[in-house]
Amino acid sequence: MHELGVLNSMVHTIERMINEQDFTKVHKVVIEVGELSGIVPRYLEVSWPAATYKTFMEGTELELIVIPGIVKCKDCGRVFNAVYSDLSCPDCSSVAMEILEGDDLMIKQIECS
Ligand SMILES: [Zn+2]
Repeated sequence: MHELGVLNSMVHTIERMINEQDFTKVHKVVIEVGELSGIVPRYLEVSWPAATYKTFMEGTELELIVIPGIVKCKDCGRVFNAVYSDLSCPDCSSVAMEILEGDDLMIKQIECS
């Protein structure tokens, strides 16, 4: 489970941004997580209290927005929603895919004061 490591570095990134902008308190963090990012949203939620424990972000609310994994078949051109467990084309069974959407993890919004 590398979600905790991902969150730890995210907490550091946010801390740096907050310091640069003279904010002191973070109320809420909104994270977009793609279905094909390799990150499990539920693990992010579970790891959040540990990642923020004894940091300036302890008690901060976390909101996750899951972005569907959209891929395009390189052989027949079909665009469909895919998940990691079944990344093959429903039309031609090809496994050559181009990922169009849903392969990253990013901080969408930070509410602070
Ligand atoms: Zn296909």
